[in-house]
Amino acid sequence: MMAAARETLRSWFYRPWSLAILAAALSVALLLAGSLGVTLRQVQQRESDQMNSQGERFLERLEQLFGQLREGLDDLEAQPLRGCDMKMFTTLQQVSFSYRFVYEAAYIDQAQFCSNRPHQEALSAIRPPDIKGPTYSYWLNTSTEPDENRAALMLGRGNFRVATSRGHLTDMVDLSPGSSLLVVLDHGTRAIPVLGAPQAWPPSEPWSPFSNEPLQITQNRLIYRMPTNNPEYQLVLISPRTAMHLPALWWWLVPASLVLGLSIGALVFLLARQRQSMGGELQGALKRGELQVLYQPIFDLRSRNCVGAEALLRWRRPDGTLTSPDLFIPMAEDSGQIRQITDFVLQRLLEQLGQLLRAYPQLYISVNLAACDVMVPRIGEVMSRLLALHRVAARQIAFEVTERGLIDVVVARENLQALRDAGHQVLIDDFGTGYCSLAYLQTLPVDCLKIDKAFIDALGHDAASSGVAPHIIRMAHALELKVIAEGIEHEAQAMYLSSEGVNYGQGWLFAHALTAMQLIELVTRGRHMAPRRIDDKA
Ligand code: C2E
Ligand code: MG
Ligand code: MG
Repeated sequence: MMAAARETLRSWFYRPWSLAILAAALSVALLLAGSLGVTLRQVQQRESDQMNSQGERFLERLEQLFGQLREGLDDLEAQPLRGCDMKMFTTLQQVSFSYRFVYEAAYIDQAQFCSNRPHQEALSAIRPPDIKGPTYSYWLNTSTEPDENRAALMLGRGNFRVATSRGHLTDMVDLSPGSSLLVVLDHGTRAIPVLGAPQAWPPSEPWSPFSNEPLQITQNRLIYRMPTNNPEYQLVLISPRTAMHLPALWWWLVPASLVLGLSIGALVFLLARQRQSMGGELQGALKRGELQVLYQPIFDLRSRNCVGAEALLRWRRPDGTLTSPDLFIPMAEDSGQIRQITDFVLQRLLEQLGQLLRAYPQLYISVNLAACDVMVPRIGEVMSRLLALHRVAARQIAFEVTERGLIDVVVARENLQALRDAGHQVLIDDFGTGYCSLAYLQTLPVDCLKIDKAFIDALGHDAASSGVAPHIIRMAHALELKVIAEGIEHEAQAMYLSSEGVNYGQGWLFAHALTAMQLIELVTRGRHMAPRRIDDKA
């Protein structure tokens, strides 16, 4: 059941069209989401920048304004006149002339009232002040009429009152519709609008009243609190959040994302088709016999005798080009063709070397297994059939597994154990390049580690005892595992490895991958390395 479902999924993934559509849809979605995120951030940034600068301008203006109102009052209080007469009228007018923000100045006592603007009654209706300080009293929002000239703020000292006009507040900053300028009193519990409509206070939505940030952005409002010198009150500017106007840039990002996504889809389609066609070609190659198995000899580092060989696959196309197994093996693993290929290698190797193996019972050939070969018990069955047919002992065939093939430890362990029980040797190939840990290794049924070429390279020409290789060797010995060093290219490396107790080695220093004929010749010639290197016939 599971296997069938996995097979369906796999075949779906190998259809270039479905892959391309998936890739295009995914990338369009990702690109759109990404650019929307960026744009929204930008919009929000702009919104808060605007509010911050509006708040700052308001604050500056308010400070000027309060300053002038207080100065005006101080002037009036300081002069000797009291009572309403022509002189008082002139004095009031003078104050209003000399302070730009003083729109109206008035004298008031129990009996009389006079103002520099006698026809207006703004200051005549007197109610108790909203804020009563030691020197000054404050009346806020003294008029709710939409008259620009009506007082928005009034200050009083003794018998005098001065007021500013609404226009003086709004000429600096446009208060957008729905916005309000509030004065918050009584330790933040009461708010009186100076400009704009009254607002519920404290805000009903969640906000943080103790934050030090002047600007707070809630779900649908911007709240800008302005610090004042007076602890009695605080100024607050509240604006509704503007409907998110997506900037023009966004309308460019949409088609750009679409085009980019479709291009990615097209690219995936081409790659998938190429891969599919490579898969098709590989199928043909198997049939036409373009695949060839070569054997790279493995030597005992001390005696320099050839003890075995590793079977390595080559794909030689009719036009003579060679495709590296590093390219087509991973592809075949993905497409499932690897099973056929592994079978082909096993079969070919016994056909070519069966006789040699029977004649030299100590000789072994090691075969690379793909990750999926390790996941099913199939290899053991194929092998035992072939071994019986060619009358070769199981111990003469070894299997190389990479750390990648051991991901599902439980299954891998079971299958590897079965191979060992049948008499085969199991090696870990490219050791050190994967994730295999020491603890993990202990639990695996393996006989030997192959140290990856990268670590042998790291030993360098003079093979100073540097890098990871010495550690791997010590570890392998501690676990009583044999060690094969891969990719030995210099005599110094071979000497060093041998002195460190590495038993076996393989590499261009000794031999390239050989054809079956060349290998047979090498082994039968006395199994000893000639001084000159044997060259790759491939
Ligand atoms: P691998 O199993 O680690 O094989 C060793 C690789 O190192 C081979 O490359 C070999 O030719 C190369 N090599 C050996 N000595 C030297 C040296 O001294 N210097 C350098 N520079 N390279 C050296 P190749 O044959 O290209 O194989 C590459 C990989 O392809 C193999 O790595 C193996 O993982 C995979 N492969 C090859 N044949 C098969 C096969 O039949 N089945 C499977 N499943 N994988 C295979
Ligand atoms: Mg190998
Ligand atoms: Mg290797």
